[in-house]
Amino acid sequence: MAGIRENLAAVRERIARAAAAAGRSADDVTLVAVTKTVPAGAVLDGIAAGITAIGENRVQEALGKRPAIGSRAQWHLIGHLQSNKAKKAVELFSLIHSVDSVDLAREIGRRAAEAGKVQDILLEVNTSGEPQKYGIGPGDRTILEVLNEIGDVKGIHVLGLMTVGPLTDDRGRVRAAFRTLRTLFELVRSERIPNIEMRHLSMGMSGDFEDAIAEGSTMVRIGSAIFGPRG
Ligand SMILES: *Cc1c(COP(=O)(O)O)cnc(C)c1O
Repeated sequence: MAGIRENLAAVRERIARAAAAAGRSADDVTLVAVTKTVPAGAVLDGIAAGITAIGENRVQEALGKRPAIGSRAQWHLIGHLQSNKAKKAVELFSLIHSVDSVDLAREIGRRAAEAGKVQDILLEVNTSGEPQKYGIGPGDRTILEVLNEIGDVKGIHVLGLMTVGPLTDDRGRVRAAFRTLRTLFELVRSERIPNIEMRHLSMGMSGDFEDAIAEGSTMVRIGSAIFGPRG
């Protein structure tokens, strides 16, 4: 199996090709290397190969790797966050992709304010309607109502939207889910809600990042295509 460095180069090449095909610049697509279940040593290899942002989906696992990795990469939280872990999450992560309720946003804001920080967050949207997925339902009104409430919360700054595409071989459905998020992104942007900025569109994983880039993704979260299959 190819090493991390080769895998990373191949992923970057595919990102560049997908961006070019969509008439976009590869520089407009940030790669977040997903390091869940990857031991700290392999993460450090990835950083030596040029990874600058890493995504973890559990606070506890990130805490375990933090001493070895420190601030050699920017830390992103991409998995579901429970309120009782908000304090730790604020200490650890520069961007939290997975905020899926007003209550969670308030708790993050409260903890960030205590820490003298403004926490950057994304709102997670369930674009596929799959019941096992986290995220707020994709209805325009629901999202705008939630963002209007979150916009008033001190201690956080909303920088965009995130989704996990449907788990299916039907690329039409995958593309439709990404298009839904992109359309919402444009809608929210046009509403000009105070304290809500639409800068990042976090969508696309190993199996679907080219489709996500075609639909406007600015941040892809890629794990197995870089580090190999998870156990
Ligand atoms: C695991 C995970 C990824 C990366 O998945 P791969 O298929 O390994 O690229 C991306 N986003 C989220 C939210 C994840 O949990």
